Amino acid sequence: MKQKKHIQNIRNIGIIAHIDAGKTTVTERILYYTGKSHKIGEVHDGEAVMDWMPDEQERGITITSAVTTCNWKDKEIHIIDTPGHVDFTIEVERSLRVLDSAIGVFCAVGGVEPQSETVWHQADKFLIPKIAFVNKLDRIGANFFSTVKMMKERLNANTLTIQVPNDLESRFNSIIDLVAMKQIEWDDDSKGSSFKVVEIEQNNMDIALEYREKMIETLADVDDEIMEKYLSEETISEDLIKKAICKAVTNLKLVCVLCGSALKNKGIQPLLDAIVEFLPSPYEVNYIKGINPENNEKIPCIPDEKADLSALIFKVSMIEGRKLSFVRIYSGSIKTGSTVFNSSRNKKEKISRILDMHANKRKRIDEAGPGKIVGVIGLKESTTGETLCSEENPILLEKIDFYQPVISIAIEPRTYQDEERIQETLNKIIAEDPTFHVKEDEETGQMIISGMGELHLDVIVKRMERDYKLNVRVGCPQVVYRESISHEVEKKAVFDKDIAGNNHYAEVTLKMLPLKRGTGNKFSSKLSEDIIPEIFIEAVKKGVFESLENGVIMSYPVLDVEVILIDAKIRENNSTELAFKVAANMSCKECLKASSPYLLEPVMKVEILTPETFIGDVIGDFNSRKGKIEGITSRKGIQVIQALAPLSNMFGYSTNIRSATQGRGTFSMQFSHYDKK
Ligand code: GDP
Repeated sequence: MKQKKHIQNIRNIGIIAHIDAGKTTVTERILYYTGKSHKIGEVHDGEAVMDWMPDEQERGITITSAVTTCNWKDKEIHIIDTPGHVDFTIEVERSLRVLDSAIGVFCAVGGVEPQSETVWHQADKFLIPKIAFVNKLDRIGANFFSTVKMMKERLNANTLTIQVPNDLESRFNSIIDLVAMKQIEWDDDSKGSSFKVVEIEQNNMDIALEYREKMIETLADVDDEIMEKYLSEETISEDLIKKAICKAVTNLKLVCVLCGSALKNKGIQPLLDAIVEFLPSPYEVNYIKGINPENNEKIPCIPDEKADLSALIFKVSMIEGRKLSFVRIYSGSIKTGSTVFNSSRNKKEKISRILDMHANKRKRIDEAGPGKIVGVIGLKESTTGETLCSEENPILLEKIDFYQPVISIAIEPRTYQDEERIQETLNKIIAEDPTFHVKEDEETGQMIISGMGELHLDVIVKRMERDYKLNVRVGCPQVVYRESISHEVEKKAVFDKDIAGNNHYAEVTLKMLPLKRGTGNKFSSKLSEDIIPEIFIEAVKKGVFESLENGVIMSYPVLDVEVILIDAKIRENNSTELAFKVAANMSCKECLKASSPYLLEPVMKVEILTPETFIGDVIGDFNSRKGKIEGITSRKGIQVIQALAPLSNMFGYSTNIRSATQGRGTFSMQFSHYDKK
């Protein structure tokens, strides 16, 4: 009972928003009012608690999903910071997987921006209950009701407005709480710490009653008890309204909308109340299911301390030379000093320390149970997306999909000392970020780093320079192509060599055929165990996948091919795994050469926003980049162009769009698919 109560007191939330909507300011104010940080650090001073990586402060955007714990009214809130830029979509998805609910922050002037749409829809995909906070009501041009309307239209959100602002812009000083039917006024001198709950002013009564009625009607549509009382015109108690809101938000029927101004310290305490009152604990959400790796049977992860452990590593950071893994526990518990089993790697790992995280400050704890999100030190090999469980009852939680890198740049150390440290530094960054890859160019010997977009790599290079004090020279960004094949082929390869006095022999015949775009690569064997033992089939498979890493045209990875082992010969005493691996590699390369290979290029989904006046020039320029326009819609005088374009034609586009639109056009871009070049 006590345990259930503890789990019910946890809220795992994320704050999702477009860059600049005020996510960092809202988070920072939450930490201030919950008493964890003792000064209000404005983002533009580079002081906000959450943005503690130097790059983020410089750019004013939040990149790493840092987790922060704070307390409000006996409840424990874990805030996972989610990035707003699409180049970091993987980070968003990773954090969305471990959240139980989210707060969408919107700017009352900009409304629903395209990137908030992307993140919002991702949250919908993960069935995450949400509340919305319309921020910046103090700004000139703020419009609360039009922002709510945009949420309905663009996000398809069934909104429930539970607060309305009392006045706007510089006159914004209080909000009307439609649930309690009270007015909340903040005291400017106390940095918003103290506020008064007063009766609604007479001149606000009409708007309060109008929106209270709308709120009850919307609730009645999704809640039978409210509907009954509403129809029979009975008084509906505050408690019942709150219970109905909580149920409707948790069941994804409604998104409740609050408002305020984070910068002016207004609206944050009611937002915290809404988080603890309306958003679900790990107990109330749908329990995730994992699979038993031995028989693929589905196992639900019940949030019970006594159940078997299931936990997901959703982020790894290198901090002060130490690997810190961020872990969400779904069932069971972890203890300091105990051993856990990583079912994704079949490896035991030791939990040396468990930390409650408060941005860059941490508190040691001895144990963590279901629903908690903690930092763990001691996991040596485990990485993002992997499952921790007990060895006796293993479970595998769904793996996180990783995106393919589409852009690469060559980097070179400037000095001899830098050369010595560069590999070690890159290894640390790889450990933190599975979407970042490093490879040595076989011909030039140059180090090639690749990632999800220009900004992604730019941020990494900046980190190398600042956090690791490395001096590097960077080349121009290049597209990372893929290779594929046109038709089916079969090739035999024989490996017969003496190595260190022993003969190694293998004969392998492979068949290679093209697969539908997007299928990935497949390997299978047509041979029974009496022709070739399992261990050699495994060696062939290894050789095949290694070979597919580097195609025969320009050494790009090969995509969408199926390789079948159709024949193999063994020589008693001389056949080895090494021989089979090499023979498979040779046969695979021959197949690739003979199957009319071609290059595949990444095609990007592009969204361009431009004022109407410039649309002709923007389209003209975009067409010259071989872009394909899929649709144009209008949003309050701004034209939104949805299009596809090969990535190679999009370099430098940000400069072009700015000059074509007198600085007013913007665009965002995301990987869509690969197409024949
Ligand atoms: P993020 O990119 O979503 O994390 O947004 P930030 O919290 O960094 O805020 C972006 C900018 O908007 C900063 O300059 C903030 O000071 C400013 N800002 C945030 N909240 C408010 C607000 O309520 N009113 C006004 N006027 N400015 C705000």
